[in-house]
Amino acid sequence: MLETLEFINEDFPWFFTLLAFLGGAIWGSFLNVCIYRIPAGRSVVYPGSTCACGKPIPWYHNIPILSWVILLGRASCCGEKFSVRYPVIELMTAMLFGMSWLTHPPLPALIGMLFLSFLVCSTFIDLDHMIIPDRFSIGGMVLGVLLSVCVPSLHAVEGPPVLANIQSGVISLTGALIGAGLVYWISVLGEIVFRKPAMGEGDVKFVGFIGAFCGWQGAVFAMFGGAFIGSIVLLPVLLVARLLGHGQEAAEAEDGEGEEADESVAFGAQVPFGPMLAVAGGLYFLWLEPYVDAYFVEFAATFLGK
Ligand SMILES: [Zn+2]
Repeated sequence: MLETLEFINEDFPWFFTLLAFLGGAIWGSFLNVCIYRIPAGRSVVYPGSTCACGKPIPWYHNIPILSWVILLGRASCCGEKFSVRYPVIELMTAMLFGMSWLTHPPLPALIGMLFLSFLVCSTFIDLDHMIIPDRFSIGGMVLGVLLSVCVPSLHAVEGPPVLANIQSGVISLTGALIGAGLVYWISVLGEIVFRKPAMGEGDVKFVGFIGAFCGWQGAVFAMFGGAFIGSIVLLPVLLVARLLGHGQEAAEAEDGEGEEADESVAFGAQVPFGPMLAVAGGLYFLWLEPYVDAYFVEFAATFLGK
């Protein structure tokens, strides 16, 4: 059985990549359900998908990516519009799964798909509700440590069985603790300097989760890489918001209610940090690990004189 699979993998390298892509599209449609229902405290298994009008959606109108395109984003029952976010999340998950397969050996690739799924769910729930549910952050952290103990190759640990399992578990646990600790202290310092919470408790637990799967280098990169990505993405957005905000302020001032206007566009307004941590964590897992790790080694050599 295993030999047959290895044979397929060697002779038809695209086969499992395609399978990962298609599986990712189907899994992505399940992630859509999770993103929508978990914050509402509803079951992700029952009932099946229903349209906004209450009618159940038949399976042939529920094919990932394709159905949305074929139906042009409208429900077949009542013509209700479906958000473009559904097919986007399905396509995104499909591509992430394909990349995970291409960049890792089979077992770490499968664990990576789970890790990336958690990142996708947390990202969109954080965008919608400004929270990252504990089942993703804390639950993911525990899962990351357990999987690391079971599969040492996740952290590229080789050696005799029991020793390798322990070593891999220690790498994961250290990653979780350093990640969570780092973000905790940054948030404490940030609160002293800026006099308001820059990052939430959710971010502390979330970087701990990233560290459990990626080790401390991945967690540290998620924090600083996330801040870097955030400033590239956020600065233009905040600038535009400010410019638009001024127009709005002027209009509202004419109405005599200008005093509330600047609250919503103030610099550093409530912006979820989770999505940027997730993007950086995903980039680390898929591509940047060798470069980031090499950088830390060089950094240590320069500053610690090793
Ligand atoms: Zn409908």
